[in-house]
Amino acid sequence: MRKYVVMGVQGSGKGTQSQMLAADFDLVHISVGDIFRWHVQSHTKLGAQVRRIMAAGDLVGDDLVESVVRDRLQQHDWNYGFIVDGFPRNPRQAEFFLESYDIDGVIHLDLPDEEVHRRVLARRLCRNCGMDYNLIAHRPQEENRCDVCGGVLVTREDDTEEALAARLRDYHGKTNPVLDIFQRKEFVVTVDARADKGTVQNAIRKALRLPGYGQVRA
Ligand code: AMP
Repeated sequence: MRKYVVMGVQGSGKGTQSQMLAADFDLVHISVGDIFRWHVQSHTKLGAQVRRIMAAGDLVGDDLVESVVRDRLQQHDWNYGFIVDGFPRNPRQAEFFLESYDIDGVIHLDLPDEEVHRRVLARRLCRNCGMDYNLIAHRPQEENRCDVCGGVLVTREDDTEEALAARLRDYHGKTNPVLDIFQRKEFVVTVDARADKGTVQNAIRKALRLPGYGQVRA
């Protein structure tokens, strides 16, 4: 059983790296942002509660976030473990999490703010299937069309200059203290997130003493 948390500013590759790790080690990838986006797209009551907050780049209230995380983990579909992405984002969420779960490692993806701007403003999402693209690193074959389903590519509502500036402020102000809490328990591995995704994945696995990328299955 492996239980990890991945932390990093927007655009640092949390989703991509989590998925790569989850696929090879049969972990359940739990992205709090994806859960909220699903609710917004599906027009649920929860979606209506969080839509504006998310679009402004602000953080959703702790009670709501904690109940979403608790409900998700209570499904107990994670026989081999999980990787939580985008949570905890402030000290209170970190305390809540540590009270309920012991964690094997916190992966901190380190990316300078200038690179965050460059990456995030180039990010696109398929409106239909949710596939991620990036006009710098992962362009679709046909402009503005999803390679998988042909859906139209859109910009995430919170990927604007203003929302990004708010998120970066929040991140540095609130999330860094979370890293301090985890660091005191000595299970943070910090990885330089500027490299290509395979290199970053290998660096994560080396730091966590896991088999390298591409070595898990024949
Ligand atoms: P993400 O995809 O992780 O960037 O999350 C998108 C948005 O969902 C954030 O900008 C917040 O509005 C909300 N969100 C995700 N995770 C959290 C969290 N742990 N605490 C509060 N809000 C969150």
